[in-house]
Amino acid sequence: KEECIGFATLPDQIHRKVIKKGFHFTIMVVGESGLGKSTLINSLFMTDLYQDRKIVGVEDRLDSTVSIHAQNLDIEESGVKLRLTIIDTPGFSDSLHGKDSIDPIEEYIDQQFHQYFQAESGLNRKNIQDSRVHCLLYFVSPYGHGLKPLDVECLKRLHHKVNIIPLIAKSDTLTKSEITRHKAKVLQDIKDHGIKAYDFPECDPDESADFKRQDAELKAAIPFAVIGSNAVTEIAGKRIRARVYPWGVIEVENEKHCDFSKLKRMLIGTHLQDLKDVTEEYHYENYRAQCIQTANN
Ligand code: GDP
Ligand code: MG
Repeated sequence: KEECIGFATLPDQIHRKVIKKGFHFTIMVVGESGLGKSTLINSLFMTDLYQDRKIVGVEDRLDSTVSIHAQNLDIEESGVKLRLTIIDTPGFSDSLHGKDSIDPIEEYIDQQFHQYFQAESGLNRKNIQDSRVHCLLYFVSPYGHGLKPLDVECLKRLHHKVNIIPLIAKSDTLTKSEITRHKAKVLQDIKDHGIKAYDFPECDPDESADFKRQDAELKAAIPFAVIGSNAVTEIAGKRIRARVYPWGVIEVENEKHCDFSKLKRMLIGTHLQDLKDVTEEYHYENYRAQCIQTANN
């Protein structure tokens, strides 16, 4: 059986809650230019590999990152519909203007809160368009040692506004032991700089042993080492997304090769609802409290 995204096969509790609250989810990608942001988005959501999945309403594929680019994607899997909004941002570089390129990203996130706040205080509160960003995938370079100054700056400006999930980009360029070392360094840097990344919730004690094991493996893999590819290759009669090298083939969705599948499963599967809840109850509440405070001063 081909693997599908899996939001139609969520644990019952999560599934019911998600269906009830509506299935709209917004993801943003941020990081240095050339780290594979656009490619990963394509790999995550534009896959033409799954026969039982319909992708409706794709506006256009993301190729160049010239400005903030929002794209809506309606995915249907086993009769369950999910509207995804994917926001690709201009990659920045450690150049003179590095810091400036954080501004539009921060403004975008604030703007969505602002719109929601206005709509919520208005008369027609029934049909609010919710464009708040639920999750930010932050791409860390595989070549550096941990976080760069610009990464620290960017993360510190955004961490109280959005759920940050750190990724090691292009992890096929690193060996297994390099990945382990790099992950540890990134986690240490995050801690040392007081950066607050998305806090993965404790696993429900009522979950199955299988689910608990998966949850533990997921947490152990943070920051996820990912690989993206727009190329589909055929192995043993199966079409798979991969990067092909003279010395071998690296499969994007093979968990032995990288953490791509883990990321995909948590994002639009097991942790989708928690990412939405934390956005609502923590990040948006922060914003709201500030608005009210400013208005009262
Ligand atoms: P962006 O600027 O962050 O959006 O980066 P792109 O997605 O445009 O990718 C930049 C280049 O890196 C392209 O040539 C991609 O084919 C390549 N690339 C993307 N993802 C990966 C990856 O996981 N591994 C490797 N080795 N190259 C990648
Ligand atoms: Mg791009």
